[in-house]
Amino acid sequence: MLPPQRDSGKLTQPMELPPLPNGMEWEGNIAYLDRDGVIIRGFEDYVNTVEEIEVLPLAASSVGSLRRSGFRVCVVTNQSPIGRGIWSRENLASIHDETRRLLLLDDADAHLDLILHSPYAPWENSWARKPNPGMLEASRQIMDFAHRDPSLSELRIMFGHEWDNRPSEEGSVMVGDRNVDMKAAEAFGVRGIRCDPDEGIGGVLDAIGA
Ligand SMILES: [Mg+2]
Repeated sequence: MLPPQRDSGKLTQPMELPPLPNGMEWEGNIAYLDRDGVIIRGFEDYVNTVEEIEVLPLAASSVGSLRRSGFRVCVVTNQSPIGRGIWSRENLASIHDETRRLLLLDDADAHLDLILHSPYAPWENSWARKPNPGMLEASRQIMDFAHRDPSLSELRIMFGHEWDNRPSEEGSVMVGDRNVDMKAAEAFGVRGIRCDPDEGIGGVLDAIGA
């Protein structure tokens, strides 16, 4: 198994969830978001440096709105440059740190509760690489577990057929700008909503109902 990755450390390292806005209780809904073309602008040859980050218009207020509507926000992003040896996981972490900073600068509720990436090249056939649903499977289990026990020390993440007894994804949604995102949503069993890569999440907020 080639598992999804957090920006640093182990997949099951402790995670303190930021509270939802206005003292709201989380009822289990997750907005699974692709990154490029949804939150920040995507490019044919990747987002390679902090300087290349361009937060899409309305992305911050949309992430804030999702969380004000009770969603936890989990980013699930294919990052094959790592597996291709183009750049490092540390580089990706700095890009994500800056993205988080820019979002919060614009909307104080716009926390990304979790970011998972798949560092694998396409030919590695990882279950964690979209169109496969491994990152969504891991996100759900991490979110549910972290809510009860932020240490995550007892968490054993299961994938594919190994994971039965799955919670309902009825109130959740996966937003992406590409076919692989919609396929991952379908494989996972969550409603998929495709956005325009120039508009990102801001263009589909009404369709989500947030
Ligand atoms: Mg994308």
